[in-house]
Amino acid sequence: MACTECKERNYSTTKNRKNDAARLELNKYCPRCKTVRLHRETK
Ligand SMILES: [Zn+2]
Repeated sequence: MACTECKERNYSTTKNRKNDAARLELNKYCPRCKTVRLHRETK
Protein backbone atom coordinates (compact mmCIF):
# COMPACT_ATOMS: atom_id res chain seq x y z
CA MET A 1 0.00 0.00 0.00
CA ALA A 2 1.40 3.40 -0.97
CA CYS A 3 0.50 6.78 0.48
CA THR A 4 -1.49 8.79 -2.03
CA GLU A 5 0.12 12.02 -0.82
CA CYS A 6 3.85 11.28 -0.78
CA LYS A 7 3.82 7.97 -2.69
CA GLU A 8 5.81 6.29 0.07
CA ARG A 9 5.19 2.55 0.21
CA ASN A 10 4.37 1.79 3.82
CA TYR A 11 2.41 -1.40 3.80
CA SER A 12 2.45 -4.62 1.85
CA THR A 13 -0.72 -6.47 1.08
CA THR A 14 -1.18 -10.11 0.30
CA LYS A 15 -4.76 -9.66 -0.79
CA ASN A 16 -5.78 -11.77 -3.71
CA ARG A 17 -6.17 -9.44 -6.66
CA LYS A 18 -8.34 -11.93 -8.53
CA ASN A 19 -11.07 -11.36 -5.97
CA ASP A 20 -10.48 -7.62 -5.89
CA ALA A 21 -10.69 -6.14 -9.34
CA ALA A 22 -11.03 -2.64 -7.95
CA ARG A 23 -7.92 -1.09 -6.48
CA LEU A 24 -8.00 -1.29 -2.71
CA GLU A 25 -7.84 1.94 -0.76
CA LEU A 26 -7.47 2.21 3.00
CA ASN A 27 -6.78 4.90 5.53
CA LYS A 28 -3.43 4.07 7.11
CA TYR A 29 -0.81 5.91 9.10
CA CYS A 30 2.01 7.25 6.97
CA PRO A 31 5.29 7.78 8.91
CA ARG A 32 6.51 10.19 6.25
CA CYS A 33 3.42 12.43 6.41
CA LYS A 34 3.16 11.72 10.15
CA THR A 35 -0.58 11.43 9.85
CA VAL A 36 -3.26 9.11 8.57
CA ARG A 37 -3.45 9.19 4.80
CA LEU A 38 -5.32 7.28 2.19
CA HIS A 39 -3.18 4.40 0.98
CA ARG A 40 -3.67 2.70 -2.32
CA GLU A 41 -2.81 -0.81 -3.27
CA THR A 42 0.29 -1.11 -5.44
CA LYS A 43 1.61 -3.82 -7.73
ZN1 LIG B 1 2.67 9.92 3.04
